[in-house]
Amino acid sequence: MIAVVKTVSEVKKQVSEWKRIGLSVGLVPTMGFLHEGHVSLINRAVEENDRVVVSDFVNPRQFSSSEDLETYPRNLEKDVSICGQAGADLVFNPEVDEMYPDDFCSSVSMTGLQNELCGKSRPGHFGGVCTVVCKLFNIVSPDRAYFGEKDAQQLAIIRHMVKDLNMNVEIVGCPTVREADGLAKSSRNSYLNEEERRASAVLYRALCAGRDLILAGERDCSRVTAVMKSVVDEEPLAEIDYIDIVDAFTIEKTEAAEGDILMAMAVYIGKTRLIDNLFMRI
Ligand code: AMP
Repeated sequence: MIAVVKTVSEVKKQVSEWKRIGLSVGLVPTMGFLHEGHVSLINRAVEENDRVVVSDFVNPRQFSSSEDLETYPRNLEKDVSICGQAGADLVFNPEVDEMYPDDFCSSVSMTGLQNELCGKSRPGHFGGVCTVVCKLFNIVSPDRAYFGEKDAQQLAIIRHMVKDLNMNVEIVGCPTVREADGLAKSSRNSYLNEEERRASAVLYRALCAGRDLILAGERDCSRVTAVMKSVVDEEPLAEIDYIDIVDAFTIEKTEAAEGDILMAMAVYIGKTRLIDNLFMRI
């Protein structure tokens, strides 16, 4: 039976019992409202570890005051059932004041990487992500932690944090799970009405158009992004936040499509901001 735990001390107690008898522990950090993308991470964690903890916590520190913290979709009961079916052992679902008591005053910050792509339109976002992930690593002491390539900048930032701060955890990146029309699965897709849902397939179409151009030999990133932008502009419900091609590791903009690159975008469909990316090795 899967356990649902609300406090840091209960998680620590359970994990130390597992570790005492030599079991390995995998962690899957999530904000809940689980879908097949999350399940693919849990499945991989179950394959590679003796015990798996899924954290289910909408982290207020990664939302700005104008963002969707209040309306972010939640369904703990369904999440627990999904985690149980996928073979996880424990769901950690703390209240906000369990993670951030009144006297909380520390944070993890990062320069460079966090100011590109999503960092430009979401200042403070990645600092909030690093802080909560660092806390989760200290609470769960996982041998491995699982993150989706869908949030490629987040994955690059977490890898960097772990290296910089000598954290004892292996970071495992997992491929993006998509709907039949290519839309990356996301908890925020639940905000889309029928017409917006149809329009949202434009993100993946634009990524594929960029990929095809590069595969055909185009190396000038500004020409590739221009074509990707024109694909998105054809969709009246879509408004581009950014479309960039960056180095997959440094997340810095690149002029020539060479080496390991990431075509990355954030696009508003109506009021909903969606992100997606495609990795290419050239
Ligand atoms: P979230 O609950 O949106 O914060 O996501 C929790 C984890 O699931 C993050 O590591 C995400 O990158 C990952 N994730 C979200 N959507 C997908 C997807 N469609 N495919 C693979 N991983 C995903």
